[in-house]
Amino acid sequence: MLALVTSYTPEREAVRQAPPTASRLWIYTNFDCNLACTYCLTSSSPTAARRALPADAYYRLIDEAVVAGIDELFLTGGEPFVLPDIFEKLAYAAERRPTIVLTNGMLLRGRRLERLEALKGLLLTFQISLDGHLPEIHDAYRGEGSWESTVAAIKTLRQRGFRVTIGATETPVNAASTDELRAFARDLGIREDGFFLRPLTKRGFSQEGIELRAEDVAPELTVTAEGVFWHPQSAGEAMLLARDVFPLRDALELMKANLDAIEAGGPVPQRYRCA
Ligand code: SF4
Repeated sequence: MLALVTSYTPEREAVRQAPPTASRLWIYTNFDCNLACTYCLTSSSPTAARRALPADAYYRLIDEAVVAGIDELFLTGGEPFVLPDIFEKLAYAAERRPTIVLTNGMLLRGRRLERLEALKGLLLTFQISLDGHLPEIHDAYRGEGSWESTVAAIKTLRQRGFRVTIGATETPVNAASTDELRAFARDLGIREDGFFLRPLTKRGFSQEGIELRAEDVAPELTVTAEGVFWHPQSAGEAMLLARDVFPLRDALELMKANLDAIEAGGPVPQRYRCA
């Protein structure tokens, strides 16, 4: 739990009246995944509990995000494409705001790939996780065979006219070859500003990497089935803002109050951008 402001009091009425400042909203759609990457910060796997955000909460969240002036929506997990209703959920979001869905890409074939056709023309981007320009680099944390399937998904989505970006995690295995990975991404047709490299963090399954506290990162409001969080880096107690998600405006104001308190005590937090 953040050690700062975690509930409203009458004295904080001035803060309540200030406009929220968030431009991004992250939504954890679920926590299960077709993969079981050994560095997964959410401890996702095929056997992890789904912990899906209920559909009614999801649609209400999108509606309230639009009203609150959120500029961009990010859907993540787990793997969002294990959900049968993810296509309708993506359409609802991307019809209203630019939407980025984070995926390992491996399920985007066959029937699922065909269902994506209905989403063409919407403001939808697929951010696909790719850690290496060679299979052995990517597969070291993500499992044998995953590179091949993920690269195939990137190529297929691009051929079909979808926007694709790449999210890479810098690890001891790929740290010496990130330039080669960037070049590989370019060769796949990914723009320079569509390549996101972030350091490995010590969270979830990962026993190595940097340790990020809430005070170290600029907030990006994050919602799961279990509450509202400071940043997508943690959907656990370490960055919990509140258990109540609604109204979203209250969560945004709570986030702003915490940011103000942090900034009053020292340097402004650095951005840690996952996408
Ligand atoms: S890192 Fe991503 S793809 Fe790997 S287990 Fe976690 S959620 Fe799934």
